[in-house]
Amino acid sequence: QGAFAHPVAVALTVAGDGMVMPCASGLEDATFDTDGQITKRPMRALALSALAPRPSELLWDIGGGSGSIAIEWLLSHPTTQAISVEPRPNRATRIRANADQLGVDRLTVVTGSAPAALDGLPTPQAVFVGGGLSVALLVDLTARLAPGTRLVAHAVTLESEALLATWAARRGGELLRIALAEATPLGSKRGWTSAYPVVQWRVVL
Ligand code: SAH
Repeated sequence: QGAFAHPVAVALTVAGDGMVMPCASGLEDATFDTDGQITKRPMRALALSALAPRPSELLWDIGGGSGSIAIEWLLSHPTTQAISVEPRPNRATRIRANADQLGVDRLTVVTGSAPAALDGLPTPQAVFVGGGLSVALLVDLTARLAPGTRLVAHAVTLESEALLATWAARRGGELLRIALAEATPLGSKRGWTSAYPVVQWRVVL
């Protein structure tokens, strides 16, 4: 007889009324303690999609902030690894606390500035730049990283956006400009409150 010969009862109730952790990337911002420096939920989902985590891969999360990118990378599969690089000690401490709170124990936090702080780190398969974007960082990363490494960088300022435009022209990859707006009260009605547009560069080195 086949496996379906003896049907079993399946419990349809999988969760109570407590907080439930979804499986998709782009968790609620409230999942993470933050001082405001955090890649917001929709943008984070787009970052994780571009980073495309696979089992056992290592991510460098440069500009760790609250740690949300590295932590979602780690939540994507139980064998993934991540290193968060963040120069501000209070943020580095917060990244560790957020990881502990969410039960993620495969995160290394490096307190320091990229590119100097990258020396001696194990080779990543993917790199996210969410802070500290500069010519020096891109020169360093493109020299240091192995061909095939996936690089995703987000830029908000005109200066960092111009940098990505120049580097994308030189190195290829995809540039995506993401301009989100959220409905908010406007007098007795509603209007769109725009977030700063973000330019995402995604390239396989
Ligand atoms: N992706 C993060 C938010 C990044 S905010 C999150 O979702 O939580 C940008 C961060 O980059 C800030 O915390 C800032 O301290 C850090 N940063 C600035 N310059 C840096 C550098 N040279 N190397 C590493 N991090 C840097």
